[in-house]
Amino acid sequence: MSFENLDLHPAILHALQEAGYTEPTPIQAQAIPEIMAGHDLMASAQTGTGKTAAFTLPAINLLVTPHPARSRGPRILVLVPTRELAQQVNEAARKYGKFMRSRAVSIVGGMPYPVQNKLLSQPLDILVATPGRLLDHMERGRIDFSRLQMLVLDEADRMLDMGFMPDVERICAALPSERQTLMFSATFDGVIGKIALQLLKKPKSIHVAAPQTKHENIEQRLHFVDDLNHKNKLLEHLLIAPEVKQTIVFTSTKRHAELLSEDLIAAGHRAAALHGDMTQGARNRTLTKLRHGNVNVLVATDVAARGIDVAGISHVINYDLPKFAEDYVHRIGRTGRAGRKGTAISFAAHNERFALRKIEQFTGHRIEAAVIPGLEPQRKPQAAKPGAKHGHKHGSGKFTGNKFGGNKFDDNKKSGFKPRQNQSYGGQKRRDDGKPSFKPRGNRNFA
Ligand code: AMP
Repeated sequence: MSFENLDLHPAILHALQEAGYTEPTPIQAQAIPEIMAGHDLMASAQTGTGKTAAFTLPAINLLVTPHPARSRGPRILVLVPTRELAQQVNEAARKYGKFMRSRAVSIVGGMPYPVQNKLLSQPLDILVATPGRLLDHMERGRIDFSRLQMLVLDEADRMLDMGFMPDVERICAALPSERQTLMFSATFDGVIGKIALQLLKKPKSIHVAAPQTKHENIEQRLHFVDDLNHKNKLLEHLLIAPEVKQTIVFTSTKRHAELLSEDLIAAGHRAAALHGDMTQGARNRTLTKLRHGNVNVLVATDVAARGIDVAGISHVINYDLPKFAEDYVHRIGRTGRAGRKGTAISFAAHNERFALRKIEQFTGHRIEAAVIPGLEPQRKPQAAKPGAKHGHKHGSGKFTGNKFGGNKFDDNKKSGFKPRQNQSYGGQKRRDDGKPSFKPRGNRNFA
């Protein structure tokens, strides 16, 4: 199938040609005709499948026909869970609508109100927004939804996880009921399925292939880790490998993202943190540096890194395993973009096997454990007594200099990443290939 078969306006086809897209992805081939026929839609599709264009293209196509009303409010509203995703959808709308007179605006938290008020006072066609900030503006009477024809809920499951559903429901209640509603979600199981039934009218349902088939170009592997010191040594080893171009390292908390990035910078890496406590401006600047290759190690949290689309990301490292199996899919999808190959490496403590199994069940893909000579885990899983908290024995004692003050590592809480001056990213020496090399100090203390 080609885009020409989809009845899209020639101006959109022109933009697609310019973007270098030759044929629709499966979600686009299935969703676009249903949306253009005016149906509501529930589509289960992961990021990386081309889902953004699947709704943005028919949305823009809708704009070909002028709206009879004189008002200036948006005709299409896209609700998204994060600022990054808002920015990405907004950019997609601009890219695909480049040869049409469509006006797209994004309204997210963290941006000054006066700037947004100005944006909202101008005529617009597509409004991309995060729910909380949009609701603020709606309550101040700043948005006229009388022209609204289409509502898109993107990554609806994530909006639910993040507690946005009450806001989403209030927003929906304030929109014209005569509208088309499209819902994209990784899953429609459980609560999100019930919400879909409430919000959608006779929806068409689309499911694109399971995530594992979407990650064929991503090599996935796993390293069992004994403790934090072992994790850091592995990270050091991986980051200096010549095939590692740009990496996203995922941590479980904002604070750890911040601290780890600072330590990597101190060790000579071009590293930066990306997390939800940063201002929008700071996040944008970091993403620009990543895109331009001025940052090659991004230490990020799940929410902040969602949807990042940078072709140069060769590796994703799960420094901490994700809390939800679904996040694993979102994380590893940051590499292997634009038809390239990618590598996703996860660190897991032996007592995280259950979480690993959940990930494997979700993706349908077994993650093979690998070892790096000289950095093998010293603890064998079977050595762990059932129910026993471990973390005090360190095998052969090869990893000297660790002091563990308890079992916190095993609880998957970083046991005080605090003594940064004693962290493992000690060395500043550069290798011949320009990559920093680490010279860990002996006396690290993570207790
Ligand atoms: P998404 O799942 O919307 O995050 O899109 C994933 C990536 O695929 C983005 O980089 C898009 O620009 C790209 N993409 C979307 N549709 C196509 C297509 N039909 N052909 C090639 N690339 C595409």
